[in-house]
Amino acid sequence: MILRVLQQYETFKEKNFNELTLKHNQVLTLIGDLKNKLAVTEIGKSFENKEIFKIKIGHGTKKILLWSQMHGNEPVGTMVIFDLLNFFMADDEFNQLRENLLESCTFYFIPMLNPDGAELFIRRNAQGIDLNRDALKLTASESKILDKITTEFMPDFAFNLHDQETYYAPENSSKSTVISLLSPAFDYEKNIDEKRAKSMLLISDIFSFLKKIIPEQVAKYNDSFMPNAFGDNIQKKGISTVLFEAGYISGDNHRQTVRKFYFTSILYAFHSISTENYNNFQLFDYQQIPMNLKLKFCDILLKNVTVKISNKSYLTDIAINKNLLNTEKFTDLVEDYIIWDIGDLDNLLSFKIIDMKGKTIEIEKNMLQRLKKADFLYKYIEM
Ligand SMILES: [Zn+2]
Repeated sequence: MILRVLQQYETFKEKNFNELTLKHNQVLTLIGDLKNKLAVTEIGKSFENKEIFKIKIGHGTKKILLWSQMHGNEPVGTMVIFDLLNFFMADDEFNQLRENLLESCTFYFIPMLNPDGAELFIRRNAQGIDLNRDALKLTASESKILDKITTEFMPDFAFNLHDQETYYAPENSSKSTVISLLSPAFDYEKNIDEKRAKSMLLISDIFSFLKKIIPEQVAKYNDSFMPNAFGDNIQKKGISTVLFEAGYISGDNHRQTVRKFYFTSILYAFHSISTENYNNFQLFDYQQIPMNLKLKFCDILLKNVTVKISNKSYLTDIAINKNLLNTEKFTDLVEDYIIWDIGDLDNLLSFKIIDMKGKTIEIEKNMLQRLKKADFLYKYIEM
């Protein structure tokens, strides 16, 4: 059933959102339209006085809270929240499914928790605070809002929606991670109580569904306890918590293909909660999910390149990464390129591999070093 929804995804996709540069005014426009149709409440304002909203749907006993974009430069979860709302408001062959979900569950959606960060396309808020390290001090008004809603609503499940960096891959996979999941720990010992176990079973169910449609592209995050992170603290309150991370597919710079799978994962999670299908899984299944490994990929790998520095030549590999712009003026997101690594890179995966056999690149002394700009690329390679 959820697979059929995936096939019809374009019907539900919020067409006003299609770039990572999603801004608060775009959300405001849609919220304006939704106000007549759904229970929309303003639940507070950001440091820069931008409104933050909660949208409530459904009337079931199973309570689910979702919030997105607590990191301003991670908008895919916000797009997906509006896709999900479109799904719930539609009238089609999936009426039975949505009726079941709305009868059994009550959903609170908080899209774009960090509108000031979104405005600047930065991770942190206008005070320079990482909201996901502010769960204890609650210095930011955005953090207070999330804390208050969580305490008042006391959901059965909390979904914390993020986007991860592009360079991850599941262990033992040569493909990039598209979706990664985590049941955060609530203490350093990584103990598993009944509520945390429930989130692990839910993730196992989501994984078993996703691995059929995006094999080798689903992973789980490391569960090291972070004492001041929201997910860890909400899990600690006895709420089954799931961290969702939208990953990356080569060439999908605005993550619109990833978005489709992200939407499907969350809808599947709702279905699993509503039917309690997750009870068919065991903790062992969670342990079997491959780990999400960082920095397995680079953007461009120059293989077997002859480098010439100060009249000396040698053969090596060079890895290059894109340096993404963080202003609102960008078109294709890439500002420039930086050198990521040099040397034996046989174990590094790359979104693009260029065989440079027989070609020589002349580089100024001291310029072929990690994190220096790879300006030589423009001279030697058509970008
Ligand atoms: Zn994040």
